[in-house]
Amino acid sequence: MPNMNDIEDCGVTLVSKTLACSADELFEGDQVQRIQLSLLKWYDGARRRLPWRGDMPPYGIQDQLKAQVKIESAVRSPAIVWEEQRQRVPPYFTWVSEIMCQQTRVETVIEYFLRWIKKFPTIEALANASEEDVNLMWSGLGFYRRARFLHQGAKTVVEKHGGTLPSSVQELKAIPGIGDYTAGAIASIAYAKPAPLVDGNVIRVLSRIKAIAGNAKNKHVVTLCWKLARELVSAGRPGDFNQSLMELGATICKPTNPKCSQCPLSTHCAALAETKAPEIMNGKPLVFDLTENDRERAIARQVATSVTKYPLRATKPPPKEEIWCVYVIVCEGKYLLLKRPNLGLLANQWEFPSLPWLREDQILPPYAGRQALVNKFLDENFGIKTNKNTLRVDLGVQEHVFSHRKHQMHVEKLQLNANEVPHGMSLARMQVDGGKECCWVDVAEMKIDKGDSGRIAMTTGMRKVLLLCQKGRGKSENALTVKPKRSDPGRELFNAYFRPCNNGEKKRARPSYSAASNECGRAMQAPTMPSAKRRKEVKLSSYFSTDLRV
Ligand code: SF4
Repeated sequence: MPNMNDIEDCGVTLVSKTLACSADELFEGDQVQRIQLSLLKWYDGARRRLPWRGDMPPYGIQDQLKAQVKIESAVRSPAIVWEEQRQRVPPYFTWVSEIMCQQTRVETVIEYFLRWIKKFPTIEALANASEEDVNLMWSGLGFYRRARFLHQGAKTVVEKHGGTLPSSVQELKAIPGIGDYTAGAIASIAYAKPAPLVDGNVIRVLSRIKAIAGNAKNKHVVTLCWKLARELVSAGRPGDFNQSLMELGATICKPTNPKCSQCPLSTHCAALAETKAPEIMNGKPLVFDLTENDRERAIARQVATSVTKYPLRATKPPPKEEIWCVYVIVCEGKYLLLKRPNLGLLANQWEFPSLPWLREDQILPPYAGRQALVNKFLDENFGIKTNKNTLRVDLGVQEHVFSHRKHQMHVEKLQLNANEVPHGMSLARMQVDGGKECCWVDVAEMKIDKGDSGRIAMTTGMRKVLLLCQKGRGKSENALTVKPKRSDPGRELFNAYFRPCNNGEKKRARPSYSAASNECGRAMQAPTMPSAKRRKEVKLSSYFSTDLRV
């Protein structure tokens, strides 16, 4: 542990000094053994029952399941009963679960994992699967690149390793989609190799144990956490130890409201000590000062009143807002779907025709504008000409938030007659603009519920649109908040001098576009379109470009 004098001359030198310190400096005496013992004991009694840990159902947190298990075990402890029920887990299961659990909650993954393993029980089965089937089984789990890499990885394992996942970290990292974390997880959990691993949960726990004052994405913090994890990993039970560290982060040492009173590592935790006795530290926190950023160093100097100070919070940009015009086009009970490009966001997933609305001027798409867009789209791509008898309903707005962007989807439903579709419905799949696929499918073929075994891989956002379509209207446009443009001091100064004079006239209210459709869904007279200057016509051909939403 660096002393306070070192911290006072913090900076780049201290960073390298901290990273170069030995195991003795990182942990005192037999602290490593005590941490291992406490954590493994806690894990044996409190770990979640999960299919990729070899557990039989029911799955979940042990506290909630104890009553159930007590019935089975009048004499033996729940932990022993569950240990007896554990099955041997193939390394392939560990690989799949580790990839699925990245960026996704464990509770969500359980069902996907079980379906995946049922469909692709071995690496060979996955390697031989079609891209369509892989997408379908991953559909709704998000971050679709993970499925692609898993598929490619399975092919590599079959070609280069005869279908057996290698056990060394080095060889594992040569497989597509396997990085430091996944390699460490597979080597330790599946092959009992003393390999460390570091993920977001581990960084949070270690940052609090050692009071590391740096944000969790800081490369020095990450490097130091790898070093700490390497020192800590148990030689006897490396897989269980690594899982216990992650489990502690997920269930006890949570980002907010950590349960320090139930924590097996509370006696080792510098962040907790700091909150209890700041005077012992003479007003200075016990920190590894790793950052070269003055603002972070200034925050790190303040004594923590809560353990949640560690790790320092990384500033995250707000999600980028995008507006999409989405069309549910139905003909004889079949829905028109288009397949997304095989690169970029939501690659290879099927979706309702969706056209971007460019809104540099912050105007939401008027209903008439959206109607014009889809009319042109249908005419150019399918030779379908809508007319005043076409049944169409404005379904309002459905929002879908991704990790880094937010989609506002303005949804319209169009009901076509079979004679309005020149190519006919018999063409199950046809190619449109640029060789991209489209198809007409019924509801049963689309996946709505997670348990449903649909034929078409659709994204969660599009499933929301389908549900909206089935139940009625979504949010009204007026309920949406569109962030005003950030104020520009130069512009404000300019306006202060040259304020436009309106001679006391009231500003004319904008027409309400939601009034554009009547109750039976027939299009009413379209309101006046915004002026050409203010409206950006979307180039329909750009719909199929691969980088549209990337
Ligand atoms: S004592 Fe609290 S802050 Fe420290 S590791 Fe445990 S839960 Fe996290």
